[in-house]
Amino acid sequence: MWSLDQSSECVEALSWLETQQAAMLELLQDLCNQNSGTFNVRGVQAVVDRLQMEYAGHGEYPRLGDWVEQFPTPPAEVLNDLAQVEAYPLGPMLRAEARSGAAQQVFLCIHTDTVYELAHAFQKCQLRPDGTLNGPGVIDAKGGLVVMLFALRAFERTSLAQQLGWKVLLNPDEEIGSMGSHATLKEVSQQCRFGLLFEPVLPDGALVSSRKGAGNFTLICRGRSAHSGRNFAAGRNAVVYLARCVAEIDSLNHTVAGESTVNVGRFHGGGAVNVVPDFAMARVNVRAVDPEQLDEILGHIRGIVERFDRDPDYQLRIEGHVTSPPKVVDAASRQIQVRIEETGKGLGVPIHWRPSGGASDGNKLSGYGVPNVDTLGPVGDHLHSPEEYLVVESLVQRAKLAAGLLMNVAARPL
Ligand SMILES: [Zn+2]
Repeated sequence: MWSLDQSSECVEALSWLETQQAAMLELLQDLCNQNSGTFNVRGVQAVVDRLQMEYAGHGEYPRLGDWVEQFPTPPAEVLNDLAQVEAYPLGPMLRAEARSGAAQQVFLCIHTDTVYELAHAFQKCQLRPDGTLNGPGVIDAKGGLVVMLFALRAFERTSLAQQLGWKVLLNPDEEIGSMGSHATLKEVSQQCRFGLLFEPVLPDGALVSSRKGAGNFTLICRGRSAHSGRNFAAGRNAVVYLARCVAEIDSLNHTVAGESTVNVGRFHGGGAVNVVPDFAMARVNVRAVDPEQLDEILGHIRGIVERFDRDPDYQLRIEGHVTSPPKVVDAASRQIQVRIEETGKGLGVPIHWRPSGGASDGNKLSGYGVPNVDTLGPVGDHLHSPEEYLVVESLVQRAKLAAGLLMNVAARPL
């Protein structure tokens, strides 16, 4: 078995990372102090410009890869509360590639957007005396952007790098389900043997093994409006009718198998209180651990909607799709896990795995048939809240793990 300590240039490259903590921390603070909420297109642009400069090389850092370029992202199309499609512009994607002719290609990906929009109060980083950095996006996922960049810098210092091609995609819309970037995500990842994503590890340092699948669905109900005083009986109340329907859908939580869940997360309808409302809509989030359970639960939901739609006084339809197929650990992704375990052992970083209910772009890659591990980012907790923090020393630790993993698969292809 090939191991890191057999190659002095690999050892040198990994120890070089130990000299980079201050540089990593400085870049991370710059990236986090620049707001890049998904819909803050100018903010995302600024983050992407900075990262393009990093990949292009400056000062002591040579250029990474053969090319680095920005590409426009198609707008996110969202169904609003009146069931009309609205298009929201998104920031650009950044792509970089090295050695596209190499026999083995790896896909490297993480997002540039955060959940904190410009109006949010949480905008700046703060170093804490306990060795943590509190700030918007420090682990989700700007810490991952920094870990990935420095892992590539270390890897490219070795001659072993010539054995492996890589394709980097930084997407600007993961926090809204990669609505604009998914086609590029599919196209680029499918050119690669496997994928590595840099979402944060779980708070105890565990990497995520499997993830539930998820889908978002919108139910749209139309009835008939009428004056509630003069003509109440002529009305067909869409709010009440849809409320009955979603109550049945919610009851699936008690009847369907396993850990699947159906969350009726939003309900909208009606206006003036003296009008029988002719319109209502509800939004439903479905999660399931495996494809069979997901199909089963979606079958139940479609059946309920069809039954309610049969009443000639009402029209009911469902829109939406599975945005993240369940991510299961198959033989191919287990192979990558084993390489990470080997690398962790060589570096003295304990590796363990746990399932997660949350979805990531790793789910999408699994759906495209690209085996992947999606939690190669740094350690921290409380993402999506003003308490979000990063353990500063995990920047170097996780960059060494990712760089060591690239060395491992370059020396011994998967
Ligand atoms: Zn997130």
